[in-house]
Amino acid sequence: MSKNFKDREINVEPAMNIGDEPYFAAAAEGRLLLKKCQDCGRHHHYPRGICPFCFSSAVQWTDAAGKGSIYSCTVVRKGGSEPFCLAYVELDEGPRMLTNIVDCDLDAVRIGQPVQVTFKKTVRGTSLPMFTPTDR
Ligand SMILES: [Zn+2]
Repeated sequence: MSKNFKDREINVEPAMNIGDEPYFAAAAEGRLLLKKCQDCGRHHHYPRGICPFCFSSAVQWTDAAGKGSIYSCTVVRKGGSEPFCLAYVELDEGPRMLTNIVDCDLDAVRIGQPVQVTFKKTVRGTSLPMFTPTDR
């Protein structure tokens, strides 16, 4: 039986590493950023100062399309007030992000489902990229 789940309160702040400021500033504007290597051309996530594929330091922020598909997922029903869907989303640019699937019937979430980015705020107001199913 399906059920619509409401948003859960996000009372955990993300780890802020030096150099992550542009990522969270863009998220506050509703934009998802990725790092792209200027030498090998590949995107990566989480953001790093050195390309994890070719070790070049020529990495730059780029806007992601915000689209992808669910690579893996699970619905967590214990340990909090509301169930939530923890997932790896494979972005169209290639990287896989650990994230949440939101604004949907959690019982209908499936591997391979197309998703698009949406942003949810923590209790302190930090915007976090999460994903919601889309028809594409
Ligand atoms: Zn590279």
